[in-house]
Amino acid sequence: MQKRSGVLTFFILVFLFAGAGTAGAHGGFDAREAVCLKSYPTDPALFNETVGPYVQKIIDRYGLEEWKATLLTNEMHRHLGLWSIIGAKMGVRAREVLNAPFDQLRVVSFAGTTPPYSCLNDGLQVSTGASLGRGTISNANIGSPKAQFFHDDKGVYMRPKTEVVNAVRQAIKELSQKYGFQSQEYFRQLEKVAVKYWLEWDRSRMFEEKAMP
Ligand SMILES: [Zn+2]
Repeated sequence: MQKRSGVLTFFILVFLFAGAGTAGAHGGFDAREAVCLKSYPTDPALFNETVGPYVQKIIDRYGLEEWKATLLTNEMHRHLGLWSIIGAKMGVRAREVLNAPFDQLRVVSFAGTTPPYSCLNDGLQVSTGASLGRGTISNANIGSPKAQFFHDDKGVYMRPKTEVVNAVRQAIKELSQKYGFQSQEYFRQLEKVAVKYWLEWDRSRMFEEKAMP
């Protein structure tokens, strides 16, 4: 009997754990519908040699909604960077936490206007639909990679965990030492690091999240 209840507990825990992860957590918000495209590209053959090998793995791990948001962010941001990817994951996570449909979030970014932190802003806009054009994002010019998200009477404050910030700092330091800060080769190598973290960083675990009244 004890053995059976142990097995049962195990399955309940597995079930809870799976539910808490990102794989099955896309029901809380609406899907991004294409405006001009018939569908968002998911065929690895359509991607360059840096991203191609990662396409299927990223989609399998984090789902189509995060894929679409991050893909668009990278195209809009004009390079594969770490803070822009963090911003995209943060925005998708915020929509999930607040159960918020597209274009109904209001966002306050603290990332300022100076790269690299300000790169976060592009990810935030694309992933939430709260854009400068819609007038639903504002930028408190503090120069810190944090943001607040509001929907109805709910809000959440988010910032990347220390280990995420440290990973970014370490990558930038190493690339700068090897290739010179923001040199052509720096950006080429940064793309390889960025796509690796695109796959590694789990949006449900990489942020400190604080509910706001
Ligand atoms: Zn950037």
